[in-house]
Amino acid sequence: MAWDFTTDPEFQKKLDWIKDFVDNTIIPLDLLCDGLDQAQLDALWAPLKEEVKKQGLWAPHLEPEDGGQGMGQVHLALIHEILGRHSLAPEMFGCQGPDSGNMELLAVGATPEQKERWLDPLIRGEVRSTFSMTEPFTASSNPTEMTTTAVRDGDDWLINGHKWFASNGSVSDFTLLFAVTDPDAPPHQRASMFVVEKGTPGMTVVRDVGSMSHPHVSEPGLLYDRIGGHSEVVYENCRVPNENLIGAPGEGFLLSQKRLGGGRIHHAMRCIGQAQYAFEMMCERAASRQTRGRPLGQMQMVQDMIAESYTQLETARLVVMRAAWQMDQGKDHGSSARTEISMIKYLVPKLTLEIIDRAIQIHGALGYTTDMPLEQMYRQGRALRIADGADEVHKQAMDPQILKEVDAVEGWPSEHLPTRREAARKRFGDLVEAARNRR
Ligand SMILES: Cc1cc2nc3c(=O)[nH]c(=O)nc-3n(C[C@H](O)[C@H](O)[C@H](O)COP(=O)(O)OP(=O)(O)OC[C@H]3O[C@@H](n4cnc5c(N)ncnc54)[C@H](O)[C@@H]3O)c2cc1C
Repeated sequence: MAWDFTTDPEFQKKLDWIKDFVDNTIIPLDLLCDGLDQAQLDALWAPLKEEVKKQGLWAPHLEPEDGGQGMGQVHLALIHEILGRHSLAPEMFGCQGPDSGNMELLAVGATPEQKERWLDPLIRGEVRSTFSMTEPFTASSNPTEMTTTAVRDGDDWLINGHKWFASNGSVSDFTLLFAVTDPDAPPHQRASMFVVEKGTPGMTVVRDVGSMSHPHVSEPGLLYDRIGGHSEVVYENCRVPNENLIGAPGEGFLLSQKRLGGGRIHHAMRCIGQAQYAFEMMCERAASRQTRGRPLGQMQMVQDMIAESYTQLETARLVVMRAAWQMDQGKDHGSSARTEISMIKYLVPKLTLEIIDRAIQIHGALGYTTDMPLEQMYRQGRALRIADGADEVHKQAMDPQILKEVDAVEGWPSEHLPTRREAARKRFGDLVEAARNRR
């Protein structure tokens, strides 16, 4: 009997340490970080990262041979749920996006020399990276339509194109760039993956785009001077040597698929942390705020909100854990759990936003203010219904997977009751008749 929902006690001790570290070190420290630039933040964060390394918890998403802890997705799910309580926490554990996915991509696609140059320093937390696929003028839900090109020129490649939403693009040391190298190839073999290092001539970071996460005015030249920005980047005859090509020409989709499987489930895991955090605030407020002589939590409509939220939280947790378990069984970067990953990628952010929204509601005006973390969680959480694939695209991806297992029938459906009754009569009619005659 293999069904088991317990956490082994040794691992629970690690989770307890992580929870304490996030709640009592990372969250309070971040409250004092307004106005610091990335270099100042890095200096402040360095001892925290050392502490995480000392605890053997650094880069938990990678296999040991790639410099990580090799914990598997179920253990990661439990860790990410805690790290999800604050957007900064994954950075302290070396598993923050987009670096974590880029590490996974380089781990599967890079040569030993490329790993030494880009992957190893990334794992050690010495450099930052960006993943750049999305373009402003093509519907990037379908990246086979992308227009950025890389053309072979002697020993080099010449890149031309316009990208945006390259997260951390203004503070990263290199970008993993997706570009078309063979426009005549079948759609999923047209593009390749390149490393473009910061400062390469022809690469211009135009601006960091203002967003719901960072609602500043967004003008050309305005760069967010710390992680968390989303950059618009133009490539004009940007020359990179062939050593910067990751994998073979045309393998861009294959490599990015390996990257996205893990990234998507980690997003969902962290969402649960956000939902849990919001739920805790909701419950505390419901128990504390008095009206008409009793706590809010004794009002039926508030009880309904709490019950709905608890049910959604537990539902989300279970489906994420199951997808994580399935990934661990498959050991194939999520290919065998594609339907489950698509499901949680759209479902969990949706449930999380609903829970945060209720927490805001129960706090009344206070919930709408920047005195509580809820408004920021709500704004940031909205991105996950679009980033790493819009909800609609994930739902659409599920359909063929589900229907693949189904045989089409002609005529009446298999469960058509008159047809089934007739078949049953042929099979069991005599037995039923005999039983009826016993009276
Ligand atoms: C916070 C954030 C961070 C991001 N970080 C990165 C990053 O680091 N690197 C990167 O490359 N990209 C990044 N992105 C971009 C993200 O991956 C794209 O926004 C996403 O793939 C959708 O592409 P699009 O914006 O071009 O929307 P479009 O493709 O234009 O789609 C717009 C809408 O159309 C609908 N739609 C699209 N396709 C279908 C369909 N097949 N069926 C039904 N409806 C559909 C959906 O409602 C969708 O939201 C980030 C986005 C956000 C919000």
